[in-house]
Amino acid sequence: MEDRMKYLALGALLALAPAGSGDAQQIPTPAPRPQQQEDTPEAVVVVPVNPARVYQAACPALLDGRVTGRIVEPIVDGACGILSPVAVEAVGARGAIAVTGKPVLNCGMATALARIATAADEFARQRFGIGLESLETGSGYACRLRNRAAEGKISEHAFANAIDITAFQLEDGQRVSVEASWPVVRQTENGLEEELVEAIATPFERADDDPARFLADVHGAACSIFSTVLGPDANAAHRSHFHFDLGCHGQDCTYLICE
Ligand SMILES: [Zn+2]
Repeated sequence: MEDRMKYLALGALLALAPAGSGDAQQIPTPAPRPQQQEDTPEAVVVVPVNPARVYQAACPALLDGRVTGRIVEPIVDGACGILSPVAVEAVGARGAIAVTGKPVLNCGMATALARIATAADEFARQRFGIGLESLETGSGYACRLRNRAAEGKISEHAFANAIDITAFQLEDGQRVSVEASWPVVRQTENGLEEELVEAIATPFERADDDPARFLADVHGAACSIFSTVLGPDANAAHRSHFHFDLGCHGQDCTYLICE
């Protein structure tokens, strides 16, 4: 009965409306729902995703051009894996410095790699008067234990949280490799690192454009960018390359290893 009364009242209102104003647009319409009501549970739409996609996030350094590459599928492999891997092709402004190993890294490592490459490019210009063409690197991600050992702790490489750099290629084709140009201050007769039998000139006793000084520059700068820096002086496993990672040391991840 009440409903019927409402219809009658509406009919009376329409009859009173001025001529020419009887179209639907003149009928008062409810105010739009406030935006916040879109967040009510019934408004949530669940979009099915590829089951292989566990989680992926964008990488700011990829968006602003410090890193050139692409986000690739998450890697889940037992204890190893990376949820938002970046396949890095180049670093520096507009992809200025190629990264030959096309490493798969997490976003933090890709960003830190761009920082050390930019610093190395600057060191190269200061010492050799020419910039960097490319970094020779390993693959970044690798599901393995530290130092490729058969047992022990899992490597930061297993989380795409580490990179190995073997050499720096200059724009004129000159190549500065860690193995050939690191200023070796320890020589051993039987391969044991502890048995120091010969010391040769430290980097600071060499000419300004000596590749050893360039490598020492890069190693030093890396120690303020990465949480772990291992070079040939660290141990025999790093005789041929720099290992940089962003592993957590100490209770709050601020302890640094620079060897
Ligand atoms: Zn490594």
